[in-house]
Amino acid sequence: MREENMKFETKAIHAGVQPDEATGAIMTPIYQTTTYAQPRPGENKGYEYSRTLNPTRHALEKNLAALENGKHGLAFGSGLAAIDACMRLLNPGDEVISTNDLYGGTYRQFTKVHARYGIKFRFAGMQHAAAIEPLISANTKMLWVETPTNPTMNIIDIEAFAALAKKHQLILVVDNTFASPYLQNPLDLGADIVMHSVTKYIGGHSDVVMGFLALNDDKLRTDLAFIQNSVGAVCGPMDCFLVLRGIKTLHLRMQRHCENGAKVAHWLKAHPKVDKVYWPGFESHPNHEVAKRQMRDFGGMISFSLIGDKMEDAFDLVSRLTVFTLAESLGGVESLAGHPATMTHAAIPKDERAKTGVTDSLIRISVGIEHVDDLIADLAQALG
Ligand SMILES: *Cc1c(COP(=O)(O)O)cnc(C)c1O
Repeated sequence: MREENMKFETKAIHAGVQPDEATGAIMTPIYQTTTYAQPRPGENKGYEYSRTLNPTRHALEKNLAALENGKHGLAFGSGLAAIDACMRLLNPGDEVISTNDLYGGTYRQFTKVHARYGIKFRFAGMQHAAAIEPLISANTKMLWVETPTNPTMNIIDIEAFAALAKKHQLILVVDNTFASPYLQNPLDLGADIVMHSVTKYIGGHSDVVMGFLALNDDKLRTDLAFIQNSVGAVCGPMDCFLVLRGIKTLHLRMQRHCENGAKVAHWLKAHPKVDKVYWPGFESHPNHEVAKRQMRDFGGMISFSLIGDKMEDAFDLVSRLTVFTLAESLGGVESLAGHPATMTHAAIPKDERAKTGVTDSLIRISVGIEHVDDLIADLAQALG
């Protein structure tokens, strides 16, 4: 069966992965090698040096590209390394318009690293594409979208931004980490590049840090592969093997993350000590209709704030949790809780983060795939 005709679940297990030619091994071997024998100068079997390409990484890149319905895939040593590669497509003086409630590490890289090399960043709420068009200038080269956004779960209309990017010849990059390729495929909606922190749902087991880009355009692929090889922020074969293994259950995990997420979100909403609950599955969510259109389901990421908005109350709550673990990161099989204002978003100034809803009592949870009754019982005892 041709890969492009396969359903997601079949691609997750088979795309880009063939039994090993030398031995028949069903699982992609960990090609723990830096270099490859050449029979004569200029002759090789497609691999010369593992920074440029490694067979285990190659299998993973093909598999992940297929999951995003992309022609090309490039894997990096972390999500931030993948973001860095995108920024290196630009030149001093170029401008990027980015969503304002984005991952803290991305904000830090934009403002503290690339800004020093003359790239300009404008941050804006992207709930309405029409409000962004006046910000586009002759220097604007890229639109940076994250949806659902972190941590307040805003939904950005990818198709609307793809139309804007096309009209003004901008590169549209979508950070698809929170949705995973199972829930949302931005290339199908007109994005130029899809970016993932593989560290999260794709890896899924909280044991690998990795980043990924998927795309269709051949010229962009040539440029990004050149950057990947020239800058060298690649991932190792063992990590690629672990991620390939994780992907085989991505669809099953995502289904349970979504089921558990929906139950926990509704339960939180009904709790008297909980103020706001941010989750795109609520009909009252401002962009629920867009979420329904562009996502297969609503995911397991939820944020909520407490009545009174005291940081102390949030600290007490997360310290009392016993099934949820207080930790950075998300998307693993185990449930995690975090306090964005002092953890993931500590790099963003207080007034800047307050504007986007990252208030003192905001707690973000990554709902795992444990039994949902245990998760709710844990939240209930921690809320007191
Ligand atoms: C974690 C994360 C990143 C950064 O990825 P790393 O793998 O930690 O470098 C970027 N964007 C989002 C939305 C993330 O959650």
